[in-house]
Amino acid sequence: MFDKILIANRGEIALRVVRACREMGIQSVAVHSTADADAMHVRMADEAICIGPPPSSQSYLSFPSIISACEITGAQAIHPGYGFLSENAAFVQAVEDHGITFIGPTAEHIRIMGDKITAKETAKALGIPVVPGSDGGVPTLADARRVAGEIGYPVIIKATAGGGGRGMKVARDEDEIETAFQTARSEAKAAFGNDEVYIEKYLTTPRHIEIQVFGDGKGQAVHLGERDCSLQRRHQKVLEEAPGPVITPEQRERIGKVCAEAVAKINYIGAGTIEFLFENGEFYFIEMNTRLQVEHPVTEAIFGVDLVREQIRVACGLPMSFGQDDLKINGHAIEVRINAEKLPNFAPSPGKITQYHAPGGLGVRMDSALYDGYRIPPYYDSLIAKLIVHGRDRPEALARLSRALSELIVDGVDTTIPLFHALTADPAIQAGDYDIHWLERWLRENM
Ligand code: ADP
Repeated sequence: MFDKILIANRGEIALRVVRACREMGIQSVAVHSTADADAMHVRMADEAICIGPPPSSQSYLSFPSIISACEITGAQAIHPGYGFLSENAAFVQAVEDHGITFIGPTAEHIRIMGDKITAKETAKALGIPVVPGSDGGVPTLADARRVAGEIGYPVIIKATAGGGGRGMKVARDEDEIETAFQTARSEAKAAFGNDEVYIEKYLTTPRHIEIQVFGDGKGQAVHLGERDCSLQRRHQKVLEEAPGPVITPEQRERIGKVCAEAVAKINYIGAGTIEFLFENGEFYFIEMNTRLQVEHPVTEAIFGVDLVREQIRVACGLPMSFGQDDLKINGHAIEVRINAEKLPNFAPSPGKITQYHAPGGLGVRMDSALYDGYRIPPYYDSLIAKLIVHGRDRPEALARLSRALSELIVDGVDTTIPLFHALTADPAIQAGDYDIHWLERWLRENM
């Protein structure tokens, strides 16, 4: 086993990895920008090292700073968390060239899945059902018109290099295709430095269902069921739950098997998520994320596993500690993403936390890097905490969520906590009756 792991991240996920390391008897090294000198992950890790000024490009995204930090501290492996360098194939290559282990998939797998067109082609070839759409990139407006005409409106134009919900535009009919095509391209160019786009059938009332997979890199792989992440604002997840309220055991079995076999076939190593849109009983692949997801704790809750521990084990060459037959669903789990944002517009709300009290009790997990007096810097993601609840069934999980939210205090900045009070009380949420557009509609009507 590794003696020491460097965590190339910040916030709650850095803390999450520190916790797994400590339970495994592994030393942890935190890295931080000057803006994060007082951050909780810095305080909790065994060692900490400053890697640069506040902008991510000069700290959390800097290959030389992070690799030097490994060399200085003697860390043998890097856990990338999510975001930042977690899906950067060039970084993985650089890390390995320095004789350091990257805790995650190979550069090649990241490359294949990072380019959405290649990912879709690979998925198709592995027997995974995909959303109908263009065969590869759509270079000109004339091509876009032709393809959209063929697959039928509405269509969605998506950036090949996309992520985080950016570079996506819907065209409801012929009149909208030109604007949608041009804006998607310019957004893609600005956000990803690559203006290639492709076209898909726009599904009108799907749910976002994703399958957690895990491989040992040697041809063994399992699935850990699904998460329903349909509650989204601007294509960004807000609340996630597992198991999915509308997925039957047969559907789970069928799609889970397809996904596990697909990743086994490519000798995938570590945690991965295969994302689908689900409509009328059918699954349609949209993308694969080759990393730990923000919402992984709901899966951990219902299966009773530690996915970070498992990532570290397989990265070190050990076998997975469970097989498919060991994985049985127990109860229901829900996660809410608490952001430092001001409602109703979700404007970032950085600043000083004057009072923080975390909820507790049976079935409550709080993954957060907050503390009394902490100053949320303005430079990074606005996610400040994830509240995860686990119950014997969905009604119990929802009641527990509502109870836990009533105990939670975050003062000094604006947060999305009031949104979750309102959502847990909503009849549609209580009935599990929502699709990917439900929240946007609800926000327009209620905020
Ligand atoms: P990103 O990598 O930017 O998150 P995804 O491809 O995962 O992009 O899509 C994010 C979200 O956008 C989905 O969860 C869904 O809400 C919406 N979306 C993507 N593709 C489609 C589609 N073909 N039809 C309808 N909605 C879509």
